[in-house]
Amino acid sequence: MGLLIKHLKNDEDAELFLKNVGLLKTKEKCPYCGSTEYYVIRRNHYKCKSCRREWSKYKGSIFENFRIKPLKFLKILEALSEGTVLKKISKDLNVSYNTVLKVRNLIREHVLKNILNVDELEENIFIGVNHVNHKIKLDYLKTIDFSLIKDNKVGKLGRIYFIHDYKNYELLIVISENTIPELDEKSRELILSKLKKELRVFVDDFTNKISSRKLVNNKTILYSIFLSLYINDKNTLHEIIFSAFQNIKK
Ligand SMILES: [Zn+2]
Repeated sequence: MGLLIKHLKNDEDAELFLKNVGLLKTKEKCPYCGSTEYYVIRRNHYKCKSCRREWSKYKGSIFENFRIKPLKFLKILEALSEGTVLKKISKDLNVSYNTVLKVRNLIREHVLKNILNVDELEENIFIGVNHVNHKIKLDYLKTIDFSLIKDNKVGKLGRIYFIHDYKNYELLIVISENTIPELDEKSRELILSKLKKELRVFVDDFTNKISSRKLVNNKTILYSIFLSLYINDKNTLHEIIFSAFQNIKK
């Protein structure tokens, strides 16, 4: 499944794309009585010959939740996966800010709950980071042992602490709503040059986003960190984003 959203020209293309990724099902029968005899009554609407009821082509799909056209919806997903700020997406694609926000929140909740397995965010978020088999792996930790942190191993950037060599993690990221005295007394200027190149690129990417957008919400910070894992693998990121809409609840 290659990234081809930018090549889609119209809603018909977009619908086909959505069908291919499993986000839009083709209805082959009436959703009310099961009859296969139906006809088009007006754009995007069908009527059953047998029970005479009508339904929209998008019944049971994501477009019942988001009243936007398929092409625009995919363009929003693409822009979100590129890390474009919500305001710019809203302006560029001429969609309301609230719609973009709603789509982003749905993806964010899916990532936190189903991909990172985070149920509820605590005041402090601890993320163990390793680079294994050319992939960066994140572990969400419930708590850490401050006594294991050595003096010259802590760097700080805004509300984010970076700890080198914590237990079996090359890097530990701590996102905190308030300063943590145990870490502050050990912290110094952030030095990431000791990290492996792949980890450095990853950390650079999300720290840039976080500082340029003044992100304050822990959920959004964690989500941004997650997006940065895929700076060089947009296909996988798109699959994850699509999966957010696969089992959507109404
Ligand atoms: Zn029917």
